[in-house]
Amino acid sequence: MQEFDTPTFRLAVAQFDQAAEAMGLDTNLHERLKLPQRSLVVSLPVRMDDGRVEVFTGYRVQHDSSRGPSKGGVRYHPDVRLGEVAALAMWMTWKCALAGLPYGGAKGGVQVAPKSLSSGELQRLTRRYAAEIFPLIGPDKDVPAPDVGTDAQIMAWMMDTYSQQVGYAVPGVVTGKPLSIGGSLGREEATGRGVVYVTLEACRHLNLPIETATVAVQGFGNVGAHTARIMQHHGARVIAVSDVSGGIYNPKGLNIEQLMQRDLNQPLNQTKLGDAITNEELLQLECTVLVPAALSEQITGKNADRLKCRILSEGANGPTTLEADRILADKGIFVIPDILANSGGVIVSYFEWVQDLQRFFWSAADIQNRLQDIITSAFHRTLRFSNERRVSMRMAALMSGIDQVAQAHLQRGLYP
Ligand code: GLU
Repeated sequence: MQEFDTPTFRLAVAQFDQAAEAMGLDTNLHERLKLPQRSLVVSLPVRMDDGRVEVFTGYRVQHDSSRGPSKGGVRYHPDVRLGEVAALAMWMTWKCALAGLPYGGAKGGVQVAPKSLSSGELQRLTRRYAAEIFPLIGPDKDVPAPDVGTDAQIMAWMMDTYSQQVGYAVPGVVTGKPLSIGGSLGREEATGRGVVYVTLEACRHLNLPIETATVAVQGFGNVGAHTARIMQHHGARVIAVSDVSGGIYNPKGLNIEQLMQRDLNQPLNQTKLGDAITNEELLQLECTVLVPAALSEQITGKNADRLKCRILSEGANGPTTLEADRILADKGIFVIPDILANSGGVIVSYFEWVQDLQRFFWSAADIQNRLQDIITSAFHRTLRFSNERRVSMRMAALMSGIDQVAQAHLQRGLYP
């Protein structure tokens, strides 16, 4: 459908088509699940600090709600488009189903470069966005969370705006909040921690000892930085990390804690804590584990052939194109697909939502153990499925997720 037509949406649908065909999905369901259930486009007038009013465009897309409220982050980035948000919402549906969470998929976004706004402008933009999507969200309907360009503070403003409208505090309307208003221990690092847990399982499966493993991470935001830190904690050597400015490389290993504590306005490649390299060079480094943890479509038909990692652990959503997938399979690279590798974020979001609904909060150890249980068993289920059905790890993950959603649709039946 042309409203959604962007490269990222085409990628999500092409993956879905491939999985649907391989599993013989009911054709009516195939048609329905290619498209989101509901999409909202909003215009957001915001008073800027200089007195002007600037109008931003925002979106909230709910792909499916057959298994429960829809769930997914809100992205603030200049390239956000309806089609991209729709693709990310579809991936959330499969991700939640694969992990066995009682959620459908959603995603939101605003077309904005958040770093170009003052804190006041960012707060006014966020509150207006939350007010405009108010009819769609709620703890039983659709539960937003952080994604690229958003954080706990932004979630706090969304929670407050929603709560002001209904007249009482509703912590369960968003996840990824600060602890003071019903956030969960371990939510901030959860995606990175999940990436590490599945990567450790993959290393074990391939007989690669973690102590001798080398790791390169593209993207040093929330996901990339925590992945690198926790990988190092488990004994791996992190030899390269990057951000939009480019990256740094040190074959002896980088000091990740020091990099995380630096002045965050300083681009990584100016830190002098390693040799400067480009993002493209980072992807082509010889290493045990490569973690793309930035944006989508980074590994393509053009560069896949030059990857020299043993394991590709997808921290980002949609980092690999289908053409690249074929090349990686020929090269024997073990891919832990995004909807599995980065599901730690939404798994701990689920814990946060459950804690908010019950008004009963868990210890950090409870969170870590339950996260490890859920994501490790999803990894092994996917690996088994991939071996039994002789399909890639990506297809195995997609087919398992899609199958859960298909069963829910078929058992609920078509309304009216
Ligand atoms: N934005 C994250 C993702 O892409 C987390 C979503 C959530 O916690 O709801 O999975």
